[in-house]
Amino acid sequence: MQTPEAPPEEVELPRRLRQYINLRWLAVGAILLIVLLAQTIFGIRFALRPVLGVTVGIVLYNLAFSLWARGEAGAALPAAVLVRRGRAFAYAQIIADLLALTVLLHFTGGIENPFFIFYFIHVGVGSILLPPRDAYRVTALAIGLFAALVGLEYAGWWPHVHLAGYLPDEVYRNAAYIASSLVAFVVTLSLLAAGATGIVAELRRRREEQAQVRARELELARQQLSELDRMREFFLALASHDLKTPLAVAITYLQTMLDGYTGEVGAKQRRWLERTLVRLEELIRLINDFLDVSQLDEKRIAQEIEPTNLADVALEAVNELTGRAREKGVALETVIPPDLPFVLGSPKRLQRLLLNLLDNGIKFTPAGGRVTLALTEEAENVRIEVMDTGEGIPPHYLPHIFEDYFRVRREEFIPGAGLGLSIVRRIVRAHGGKIWVESPYCPEHSGSKFTCCLAKSIAANPA
Ligand code: ADP
Repeated sequence: MQTPEAPPEEVELPRRLRQYINLRWLAVGAILLIVLLAQTIFGIRFALRPVLGVTVGIVLYNLAFSLWARGEAGAALPAAVLVRRGRAFAYAQIIADLLALTVLLHFTGGIENPFFIFYFIHVGVGSILLPPRDAYRVTALAIGLFAALVGLEYAGWWPHVHLAGYLPDEVYRNAAYIASSLVAFVVTLSLLAAGATGIVAELRRRREEQAQVRARELELARQQLSELDRMREFFLALASHDLKTPLAVAITYLQTMLDGYTGEVGAKQRRWLERTLVRLEELIRLINDFLDVSQLDEKRIAQEIEPTNLADVALEAVNELTGRAREKGVALETVIPPDLPFVLGSPKRLQRLLLNLLDNGIKFTPAGGRVTLALTEEAENVRIEVMDTGEGIPPHYLPHIFEDYFRVRREEFIPGAGLGLSIVRRIVRAHGGKIWVESPYCPEHSGSKFTCCLAKSIAANPA
């Protein structure tokens, strides 16, 4: 089972510092409440002014700290700097608090005041936020300040403020009480510091281990990706050279034989040679599809985009497929208005798009049918429609038709790898256009209609 990952220190430390500042606002409220309760309900009397003075001091420095924290949050700093400054900030806050607490304790009875346990809070916070060495420094400072407070009051060098109505007068002069309180204080504080820094150090160690494991995993994934990339490059090189070249040569040889350059070819031989030729051409088209789909980089296509005469591109594509349509007995028609505007596109990619759509139309339309390519100008686009009167696409296949390697199951074997339409979709996406399919496309047509919209170019247009 995976444990949720702890946030890194550069995220956690600023959050904790903000909590610390909020906690101080709470402490200010608590001080005021305690003072009020002590004076009114419990009848404990002490000088109010110095206590309120220290509280105002705390409010002022907390305000300064909170402004400082806001400034730090706005600064975009490297993680290491953020952690270093965050720790220095925490250190400054803890020292300010320890000093304020000592002065406050002095004005509210010194050792008579049970709230000296507040030192524990600051030592705890220091152990969490600071590195162990600084946490121990904070502990030593807390012990030093408290010992100095009770020591100086005991010696009479800092006049003791008695909490009238609470404890007997002489507690602060009772050596045994002071000594035992100090020993208890030192032992408890040291144990707290040791325990808390130990736990925090362990947590930090685990977090670092987690980070190292993650870094190793990332490195492994990166290596695997680059290995896959290398294999892909190798396969592309193999496909484009070692597979395509011999096929192209074989096609030329066959064509030479069929053209009669190697002697008379009988009718039966011609039929078999022609069938072989068709199969080899299918194979080469398949390899081209694999190459196309693996090399289609939408960013690269976007760089090829320029004002393009779509009418010319369309006529070239139609010319290329006229022979195949005629062989199959399918009529190939075009509806292209004479003043069609240019589109923003890559001419060679748009040609591939039209070839794939028209080729499918011819492939999936039986003899006697018709494939139509229509281009229409719209407000901001040029609309391309490729319609056929073929067998159409079953409705439950329509949502998947543009996916990689998706093919509709049909009884008759029709060659293809299911990549033609996924190439079309990528090209359209790289052009920022839209494409969709309808089948049947109106009540009287059982076939399919592919519609694609490409942005018009305003830069260059037919005169
Ligand atoms: P393929 O190489 O199999 O033609 P495509 O991605 O071009 O791959 O098409 C995916 C599937 O969509 C095809 O197998 C085919 O069944 C269906 N298809 C695409 N165009 C048409 C069309 N004009 N008429 C009927 N079916 C089509």
